[in-house]
Amino acid sequence: MLNYKYQDWKTRAGQLTFRGQAFIDGKFTDAISGRTFNSINPATGQVLSAVAECDAADVDLAVAAGRRAFEDGRWSRMAPGDRKAVLLKLADLIRANLEEMALLDSLDMGKLITDAVTIDAPGSAHFFQWYAECIDKIYDEVAPTGPGDLALISRVPLGVVGAVTPWNFPLDMATWKAAAALAAGNSVVLKPAEQSPLSALRLAELAAEAGVPDGVFNVVPGFGVTAGQALGLHMDVDCLTFTGSTAIGKMFMQYSGQSNLKQIWPETGGKSPNLIFADCEDLDTAADMAAFGIFFNQGEVCSANSRLYVERSIKDAFVEKMIARAEAMQPGDPLDPASKMGAIVDEKQTQGIMRFVQEGKASANLVTGGDRVTVNGKGCFIQPTIFDDVNHDNPLARDEIFGPVLSIIPFDSEAEAVSMANDSIYGLAASVWTNNLSRACRVSEKLHVGTVSVNTVDALSAQTPFGGMKQSGFGRDLSLHSLEKYTALKTTWIKYKT
Ligand code: NAD
Ligand code: MN
Repeated sequence: MLNYKYQDWKTRAGQLTFRGQAFIDGKFTDAISGRTFNSINPATGQVLSAVAECDAADVDLAVAAGRRAFEDGRWSRMAPGDRKAVLLKLADLIRANLEEMALLDSLDMGKLITDAVTIDAPGSAHFFQWYAECIDKIYDEVAPTGPGDLALISRVPLGVVGAVTPWNFPLDMATWKAAAALAAGNSVVLKPAEQSPLSALRLAELAAEAGVPDGVFNVVPGFGVTAGQALGLHMDVDCLTFTGSTAIGKMFMQYSGQSNLKQIWPETGGKSPNLIFADCEDLDTAADMAAFGIFFNQGEVCSANSRLYVERSIKDAFVEKMIARAEAMQPGDPLDPASKMGAIVDEKQTQGIMRFVQEGKASANLVTGGDRVTVNGKGCFIQPTIFDDVNHDNPLARDEIFGPVLSIIPFDSEAEAVSMANDSIYGLAASVWTNNLSRACRVSEKLHVGTVSVNTVDALSAQTPFGGMKQSGFGRDLSLHSLEKYTALKTTWIKYKT
């Protein structure tokens, strides 16, 4: 698989069949309305598949199926070891279908097949395995009440968990939510982003093959304003876990208040700063990682290091390093293992990014990139783009662009760097590059973000929570903390005769 060449990937892509129907109560099914929408490959403009356009009626069916399954205990009360075995089997099935899962995401949203097959798809298997292994290793509590009283504090599944996910890591975002929610014993109704629904539908099929019972894992593809809103407003959904934009995250908080007070776990936007101090030992590694931090996945990463603050004494030399790296990462066909960057998810996102770039050309110093390009005469592609000497108040430095656009800003002191880094409505992640341990600790402590990476970027693992502060939302994916999010605390107080 890792030896696949360009032609092998193209051949394999040509052999794929797509699941375009909704997956409800263990079966693939059309939307009740009969409507469909097209899933499109942004690298070519080609229609991959018609996909069921679910709306409130289909969401009702899926939630009812999830509720029935939850109440009869076919999953929620399955012995922990048995539930573990099913999710371990799912992890194995993802590994057995790794190329297919990777291709679905690459074709649907334009990411490099090389990344999809080495990062996204194996990541999905790993996260299912990690949560599976937790299931029979977590203990509940007994409270220190007096003799004659036995007070049990247990963690119980919430019921039906709705999940609404974005298009930038379609399989992994679906996995982060579903793996933890299913491990905790919930039923799940997932609405994947309309730009990239295909991998989630195949995942549901693999889950069923692994032994996840009917009704426990449902996928309802469709649009945000219909299917997404219906899940958010549903009176019988207990928890809604969301990853996407800050604006829509705020809407989910409102949906909850307007309906049944369901728990909302928003993980939203970011504008993550990367601070390079002159005492950083290895500036070449820092530049390599800074380029990865903004250009990986075409910059369509919520925690992308889109603001690069460089100490003035090394700024010009560092900008040169960044330009060289950007120029070596020009976009190409996502299916070509030689390509360094893929396609932007769709036409709308491409145009939105290019608006920032055009306005930036008039207000900051464009040092490389800045153009929309085609690959083989087609598609949504943007060059890796860098603006230097960006004013801290410029939209380039403040707004989430969600594309391959980096803003470089010089600083003169540690205090100024920290203050500019924190001057954002977002607080998802930050990076700090320094060889001074005290500075690393001092600065990390002062940054108001969910994850600080020191001498690296975007540190992330199954073992550590991922999520933000401020308007990056307060949801947390990954780690045991996420598992706990999908449970409620329950007290059972038993009187006995002493
Ligand atoms: P989006 O908010 O437009 O869409 C996300 C999901 O919400 C999609 O499934 C969409 O259909 C649904 N949705 C849209 N409008 C809705 C509505 N009115 N009601 C209910 N649901 C609705 O975001 P996007 O453009 O798909 O993704 C990009 C955003 O996601 C960026 O802001 C990025 O920072 C964020 N993101 C955050 C994280 C994180 O973990 N914090 C991770 C990845 C992406
Ligand atoms: Mn698509």
